[in-house]
Amino acid sequence: MPATLAPPSAAQPDVPSAIGQLVLLGHPVAHSLSPRFQNAALRAAGIPLTYRAADVAPHALPGVLDALVAARAAGNVTLPHKEAVAARCDLRTPLAARVGAVNTYWCTLDGALWGDNTDVAGVDASVRQLFGGRVPAGQRVALLGAGGSAAAVLAAAESWPDARVRVWSRTRERADALTQRFPAVAHAVDALADALDRATLVVNATPLGIRPDDVLPAPPAALGTDAAVLDLVYRPGETRWVHAVRASGRRAIDGLPMLIAQGAASFVRWFGVAPDTEAMWAAVGGRPAGSS
Ligand code: NAP
Repeated sequence: MPATLAPPSAAQPDVPSAIGQLVLLGHPVAHSLSPRFQNAALRAAGIPLTYRAADVAPHALPGVLDALVAARAAGNVTLPHKEAVAARCDLRTPLAARVGAVNTYWCTLDGALWGDNTDVAGVDASVRQLFGGRVPAGQRVALLGAGGSAAAVLAAAESWPDARVRVWSRTRERADALTQRFPAVAHAVDALADALDRATLVVNATPLGIRPDDVLPAPPAALGTDAAVLDLVYRPGETRWVHAVRASGRRAIDGLPMLIAQGAASFVRWFGVAPDTEAMWAAVGGRPAGSS
């Protein structure tokens, strides 16, 4: 079991000098936008590194991680490796331990592999964007899905004042297992309608919407009049659900702001400085939050 310790200070000078490579681990991973915007951020900061994606099958992960530690690599982790990397890390931040998943790793000069979870910051930034800067107290959240990103949503919800989350998943046991880890904010419900009832924020943490012909996670007519929507899925031109919800007069954003925000938080972890988020957004053909 990895130790859970405070991470090194972002200002610690040996963190950036220790990075030999920047690698995103996933399977599949070719579709990822992370290399585009992370390389834009590296160029903007004048950092002479290239961020690359590595498609690593699960059976090959242990060997690849050993090689990355030897090379003093840092980077990100995406499906399906977040839990496995969390288990392999020598040290995890308290947030990574809370979520049970690592999406950001780096090595220190003593050879330790560290893991953090910046998906939580990405969710939080997206929800604040949705509500115009801060999360209003007393959110009633409907969370659809009970996997790794749903855990990041619950960890973020723990910091929202007086938030309560109803978790619906097509596999009830998974919703039960997840909510038992977050009992102060979450409970599982049997039906999608139970989750949506009077919800002020509806979050899609399922893969529904990745394919253009997927059914919508929830029909807009089933949402409360004042409900806002965060779709963790992103697609070129935004998801069909985001378009449908906006057309019904409600606020909605897709997963791209979360992706950029988690990537920006990872960059801070690695280099101790904030990246140029405008350069990151430009690299994916979008606009930073709050710009018109
Ligand atoms: P995960 O751990 O595999 O969990 C997926 C969840 O969705 C599970 O509860 C699963 O239920 C449910 N599900 C799968 N297919 C479904 C379907 N056809 N209908 C209804 N429910 C379904 O995945 P994850 O890591 O949480 O990621 C979920 C999605 O979030 C990803 O596909 C990705 O699009 C998005 N995501 C976005 C970001 C971002 O930065 N924007 C970051 C992470 C994830 P079962 O247990 O029944 O299979």
